[in-house]
Amino acid sequence: MRIAVAEIAQETDSFSPLTADLTDFENYGIYHGAELLERMQGVGPIGGLLEVAAEQRQPTELVPIVRAWGAAGGTITADTLEYLTEQLVAGLRGALPLDGLFLAMHGAAASEKVDDVEGHILRAVRDVVGNNLPVVVPLDHHANVTQQMVDLADLLIGHETQPHDPPATGRKAARALFRMLRGESQPTVAWRKIPMITPQDQFLTSHGPMKKWFDLARAMERREGVIDVSPYPMQPWLDVAEGGWSVVVHTEQDLELAQSLAAEMANAAWQLRHQFWLSDRIAPTDAVNNAVCAEQGLVVLSDTGDSVYGGAPGDSTCILRAMLEQDVPCMALVPLVDPQALQIASSAGVGAELSIELGGKFDTVFNQPVQVTGRVAAISNGLTVDLHDRGICDLRRTALLQVGQIRIVLLDHRSFAINHPILYTHLGLEIADAKMVVLKTASNFQFFAPWRKQLIRVDSPGTTQSNLRDFSWKRIPRPIFPLDELPAWDARQ
Ligand SMILES: [Zn+2]
Repeated sequence: MRIAVAEIAQETDSFSPLTADLTDFENYGIYHGAELLERMQGVGPIGGLLEVAAEQRQPTELVPIVRAWGAAGGTITADTLEYLTEQLVAGLRGALPLDGLFLAMHGAAASEKVDDVEGHILRAVRDVVGNNLPVVVPLDHHANVTQQMVDLADLLIGHETQPHDPPATGRKAARALFRMLRGESQPTVAWRKIPMITPQDQFLTSHGPMKKWFDLARAMERREGVIDVSPYPMQPWLDVAEGGWSVVVHTEQDLELAQSLAAEMANAAWQLRHQFWLSDRIAPTDAVNNAVCAEQGLVVLSDTGDSVYGGAPGDSTCILRAMLEQDVPCMALVPLVDPQALQIASSAGVGAELSIELGGKFDTVFNQPVQVTGRVAAISNGLTVDLHDRGICDLRRTALLQVGQIRIVLLDHRSFAINHPILYTHLGLEIADAKMVVLKTASNFQFFAPWRKQLIRVDSPGTTQSNLRDFSWKRIPRPIFPLDELPAWDARQ
């Protein structure tokens, strides 16, 4: 049995001033051939497939095509999408004949020319492999599912949890694919778009309305004949033609059941819509003050508007500004993407005193630079960081700037390691010495779990801000909750 293996994945922030080119993918490694299978052990959805393939009784040949993961960032350039699609298509053409394709994607990628990147890639794939080859697609559950994706994939399977567990999703998708290949499963599909978007504040699946909604999907999956029920609360910074939440249900040739469950799931989300908008965000000044006054650290200050994991530039200064204004009396850790400031600090060298303008260079809409005077405390010329189930990345050059009690780590790019303790420890700091840390994410605090005593969601402006009404939406279908009045909606009608 020959199964082609590929991943082309990126999450697009339509409001980011950045574009994503090949470098954004190369930062995490573009792999082909044997290197792909070697590097992806335990990493991403493909890592899950490799585990399941190893358990199979019948001989299975995995045919590696291409792996390109670009984390989250700006809109993908047209050339980059064309290049990656061609890599996939050419690889598949050379790999025929095949028995199946495992194609991992994010689901919320957009390019300069194509709103529905995943649908576009699936179209190109079908043109090579035809309509009969089983194609199984593990997705991020923050995907924007489109008609084209539903039409062209046999199975779309989303993550079950936030924080994400990509290998688990890969295992689930791989098991479903092997059942199809053994002739034990013949999936059919029903789906519903849900005319809503909501901020990230209630995106954790461990509690609140998201837990209720995801628990309902898991309960449905225990029913006879149900293959998969995947809720897709779309990430809220994607301004595309078919944008919005959705749910996809696969059953064993029971279309009526699939349709009924999809409608029930869609209505459940709609009924919870106001709960998804609840938030405990507070203003940057209050957040910093609360962290200073907290009995003990570590206090995580979630910079919700500048989430690098959501695609933002990582150069927001609003929390740093509040720290400077309050002259915080305890150690505060702050990451900042600012290649120019990093260059100046590196050239000045360790020990140099600097007066320098920081941040606010990429996002100039929601964000302004801030002036600081401090000392270069450390410089690193690069470090390969193992992000476990996300693979490896090179932090490249970094510098530590000390401004009073504030320790600012300057990065030259939006590394996935920006929310990892190693960012500070590799420059000689101890996390336990700090009272607070700014994280450029609204949901992924897991790397700081051993120290975290408190979490404060900061209502910070930026290209991933929770105040979705303030973006100038251009392409998302209207009417949509909560941008428009939409009093009555029922998925069954
Ligand atoms: Zn996601």
